[in-house]
Amino acid sequence: MQNKLDFLIERVQKQNPQANIRKIRAAYECAAAAHEGQKRRNGEPYIIHPVAVAEIVVEMGLDTDSICAALLHDCIEDTQFGYKEIENKFGTAVVELVDGVTRLGMLRYSKVQEQFEDLRKMFLAMAKDIRVILIKLADRLHNARTFQFLPERKQRDKALETMEIYAPIAHRLGMSRIKWELEDLSLRILDPIGYSEIVEGLKAQSEQHEEFLQRIRTRIGGKLHEAHIEHTISTRVKHIYSIYRKMYAQHKTINEIYDICAVRVIVDTVADCYNVLGYVHDLYKPIPGRFKDYISTPKPNGYQSLHTTVIGREGIPFEIQIRTTEMHKMAEYGVAAHWKYKQGLDKRGNEEAFAWIRQLLEAQQDTEAEDFIKNIKVDLFADEVFVFTPKGDVINMPAGATPIDLAYAIHSAVGNRMTGAKVNGRITPIDSQLKNGDIVEILTAKEARGPSRDWLKIVKTTEARSKIKQWFKKECREENIINGHEDLDRELRANLIYNGFYDNEEVQRNTLNKFSFSTLDELYAAIGYGGITLTKVINKVKDDVGKLRRQRELAERAEQPRTVEQPHKRVTKSATGIVVEGIENCLVKFARCCTPIPGDEVVGFVTRGYGVSIHRRDCVNVHIQEDPDRWVHAWWDEDLASANRSNRFSTGLQISTRSRIGVLSEVTTVLAACKINVHDMSARDLNDGYGVINAMVDVLSVHQLDNLISRLRSIKGVVDVTRTVDTN
Ligand code: MN
Repeated sequence: MQNKLDFLIERVQKQNPQANIRKIRAAYECAAAAHEGQKRRNGEPYIIHPVAVAEIVVEMGLDTDSICAALLHDCIEDTQFGYKEIENKFGTAVVELVDGVTRLGMLRYSKVQEQFEDLRKMFLAMAKDIRVILIKLADRLHNARTFQFLPERKQRDKALETMEIYAPIAHRLGMSRIKWELEDLSLRILDPIGYSEIVEGLKAQSEQHEEFLQRIRTRIGGKLHEAHIEHTISTRVKHIYSIYRKMYAQHKTINEIYDICAVRVIVDTVADCYNVLGYVHDLYKPIPGRFKDYISTPKPNGYQSLHTTVIGREGIPFEIQIRTTEMHKMAEYGVAAHWKYKQGLDKRGNEEAFAWIRQLLEAQQDTEAEDFIKNIKVDLFADEVFVFTPKGDVINMPAGATPIDLAYAIHSAVGNRMTGAKVNGRITPIDSQLKNGDIVEILTAKEARGPSRDWLKIVKTTEARSKIKQWFKKECREENIINGHEDLDRELRANLIYNGFYDNEEVQRNTLNKFSFSTLDELYAAIGYGGITLTKVINKVKDDVGKLRRQRELAERAEQPRTVEQPHKRVTKSATGIVVEGIENCLVKFARCCTPIPGDEVVGFVTRGYGVSIHRRDCVNVHIQEDPDRWVHAWWDEDLASANRSNRFSTGLQISTRSRIGVLSEVTTVLAACKINVHDMSARDLNDGYGVINAMVDVLSVHQLDNLISRLRSIKGVVDVTRTVDTN
């Protein structure tokens, strides 16, 4: 084992002379002790794995803490060696990295396809430190290299997980080297036949390829040498998974895929990149539309290069990538290049790198990574939180979600039986906010105890809220009705619409209809369990009561008769039983000429200084046309006029008789029998034995007067009875 360590140290020193070798040795000793006696599936001592992961981490160029964390990354999970001990020995930075890697390790492949997206997001979101992701990628890379030692089913699961989660993340981080290795290792498990077809095909053509590429190297190299451009040319056959995808997408066999060989020219400056491009296009015919300038427009993951596809002498197309050394490092190592080439990154450097990742994730509007990026752009770190169930399923919740939200997200039955929660193994208040990567266990009772009303104030998700309300709706109907009734009454009173609501069925019906309830109890219950807010109900009732009041006012106004002359004047009543339109509390007197009584059609005349004089409408003195402004509409208020029995009205009668003698006493007898008060009576003889009796009588109404008149007419000797109209 010692030589493994020496080899690692040697690599570290070469890569990073400032690394703390002593600390790395201590981490190795610690890991070796912790894993003592453990074996990998292939029979090797376990420590081989952490050392191999550390080597990849060194290759990525990460710092001392990352190397230590790589060596210790399986300790917390797999050995007695705990968090505290690592923290004491190696400090907070290292233990947090180890802890982060451990949490990422809890990510489980889920057979639900949609989970891939969540898992990728969570993967990125939960690592507070980008180094955690890089160490985890290194861990997965080494495991992928040794997939063949796993049981068959596990191989497939792990390979799929690698293909769907780890490789895309490596791609997002611009780490093409790790990406393609992960892809090829996974493909070998996922489609062994397709994989070996390509491997065999490439093997069969390898001599051809080698010759072909050799010729190109010579030709381009010669030209650039002549032009005095410093350069390095590397040639390669494209990696297996990219050929596989091409075959799959274009339905071709390996022999039909020409674009297999690739040439890379690395130069010192950007200007040289474009110079080289010019020379290449002189030597070979470019395929139109295949030139891509990723230098002026870098790929979303930061990749920069010039790409062109040209046709070789044999008519075989091949791709040439031209870039600077700097760009090449970025292309190979992506985000890790930040450590690799900017030694001694401090915390701030880490933040910068993180900012860079966010930026490039957010700036995505691009092509190939579109799917991945579409959903994570904005939400990635801010709006979402990803947590695990104890089984390792990942659940995506909005930021700020509590264990209650989670319980209801799992199932309403879980929420309703919830008694508490354990987060990362510890009992935690149910209103605490969940954090990325938390392992959350919902504690439940056998019987549903039901949620507490306070939970409505705690929960963050609408799903949980509506499920809690649902529960209250179902379980506590009686209580809800009582509470809701009380609440509603209180608010109705406060808004002065209590009677407006309860005295009016129409308002009640409208309110129930509006919120789709069929009974008041349903409404109370809904208020009680919080299915509807009081404000909504109160506003609706207010509206309705107001509307109804306005309608009534309008109806009252419409019922009132109007004069032609002054149709819109306001109405007033007087104690005399006369209503005069438009004049309040006016003095009313009855015209002596026509002596109107209740039941007569009347009209008012506005006198100068003596109030309104009331005439019978058929009075000879009424000439509305002559002075229209002074004639006002008036009518009897029957109730008022008859309210007081003593309220009598004087009117004049003229009784024509055939002979005076004897008739006068008869008339007097009838008047007395009818209890009519007579306060003025005169009789005079006319020629021919006819006579006339004039009398002023007090009556209650036209009705009584008509009655009187008909009785008078029935007196023998009475010719006619008329009401007097004084024409003077
Ligand atoms: Mn591991």
